[in-house]
Amino acid sequence: MALDNLHHVVVVGGGFGGLQLVKDLKGLPVRITLIDRRNHHLFQPLLYQVATTLLATSEIAWPIRRLFRDRPEVTTLLAEVDGVNAAAKTLTLSGGDDISYDTLVLATGATHAYFGRDEWAPFAPGLKTLEDATTIRRRMLLAFEQAEREIDPAVRDALLTFTIVGAGPTGVELAGIIAELAHVTLPREFRNIDTRKTRIMLVEAGSRVLAGFAEELSAYAHKALERLGVEIHLGERVTDCSAAGVMIGEAFIGSRTIVWAAGVEASPAAVWLGVPADRAGRVIVGKDLSTPGLPEVFVIGDTASVLQEDGKPVPGIAPAAKQQGSYVAKIIKARLMQKPVPPSFRYRHQGSLATIGRRSAIIDFGRFKLTGALAWWIWGIAHIYFLIGTRSRFAVAWSWLWIYLSGQHTARLITQRETVVPPSSNDSGT
Ligand SMILES: Cc1cc2nc3c(=O)[nH]c(=O)nc-3n(C[C@H](O)[C@H](O)[C@H](O)COP(=O)(O)OP(=O)(O)OC[C@H]3O[C@@H](n4cnc5c(N)ncnc54)[C@H](O)[C@@H]3O)c2cc1C
Repeated sequence: MALDNLHHVVVVGGGFGGLQLVKDLKGLPVRITLIDRRNHHLFQPLLYQVATTLLATSEIAWPIRRLFRDRPEVTTLLAEVDGVNAAAKTLTLSGGDDISYDTLVLATGATHAYFGRDEWAPFAPGLKTLEDATTIRRRMLLAFEQAEREIDPAVRDALLTFTIVGAGPTGVELAGIIAELAHVTLPREFRNIDTRKTRIMLVEAGSRVLAGFAEELSAYAHKALERLGVEIHLGERVTDCSAAGVMIGEAFIGSRTIVWAAGVEASPAAVWLGVPADRAGRVIVGKDLSTPGLPEVFVIGDTASVLQEDGKPVPGIAPAAKQQGSYVAKIIKARLMQKPVPPSFRYRHQGSLATIGRRSAIIDFGRFKLTGALAWWIWGIAHIYFLIGTRSRFAVAWSWLWIYLSGQHTARLITQRETVVPPSSNDSGT
């Protein structure tokens, strides 16, 4: 049958959810258009390792087009979607082109939120894209370089003070590696500064680090971070960010490198569709992940809000997005084959993992919990397994083994120019 006559499934987003869906639609009589505004699928769980000089960008990202080179029914488009006309069953690409669909799946993810203070973004980048990771890496490495040449002790202290806002997995992972970089890897390489005196502050408004984990695991992580030299501020809020530093409550602290690891905001799919959203902007979908009133439009992954059987929301993590992608592929198949559709979506939690520095991790598999070096090895093997392709698996395994044995970070490159305005001379920087 000519491809043009087949049922047209349009998938927006080549992240974890969208990619899994397209994989699972293999063999069905459909033509698929996969649209993403980036040309690559990104393994976000290891993004912090690019930001902290452990891995190179090409080790955690793959061109989407290449992943489906052997699937003639899949067309990949590099384009940004900025609207949906559900009545006409079309979506609009930025630039004005329209694409029509029979079934639409929105898997456009989420990004960090500044709780209404978007003006902080230039000073406190979040971590979501490869560009974010290289920006953080550049600022961090430049801070050490500038401190080496700085003669004003107050400015030098501000350059050697790193602030991470939010003590979820990303904040904890960033803080642990930055501490090891400053306290273990760099000291022998600088002559005018002692990088072991670098201050790494982890600021969290809640009462514990890694609040999503069991209490004993978050207590373990807290102590492990302190052993690495991370200064933890719990129950404190960042009230301002600038090029010179942060306000924590009423206190100003000079800090030239700030990283935002707090808050999540879904992509604007709910606005495109004109349907209700939760507080984070996620589309409130039905139990089959379709949009209320629009059975041919599905929303999955970080853009969707759906409850588990116990009333808790399905978490915004990669396995949840992949499970939703697989589930929607089953629904599409059942509808096309005119078979009964599968029962409501059920999320199966496979466990939570986080690393603290280069040699320690925590694992929460429910009844089975583990901490320390063995947990780090299990975490490492699990992540290598989930990477795409043999080359990436070997490359990442080799990079980690090298770092583990030598303590040296291999991706310490400063690329591109800094665009943030330096603090003015009126700004003491202290
Ligand atoms: C720093 C970080 C660390 C994380 N660590 C973990 C972890 O350790 N374990 C874990 O399970 N989860 C982790 N997550 C969460 C996990 O990455 C997400 O839950 C998962 O990526 C969600 O998958 P998704 O398909 O919904 O969206 P994504 O994977 O974010 O994919 C969305 C895609 O949509 C595209 N897109 C967005 N808007 C448009 C548009 N308008 N037009 C065209 N394309 C668009 C994007 O370019 C992107 O490719 C982490 C996330 C981050 C940011």
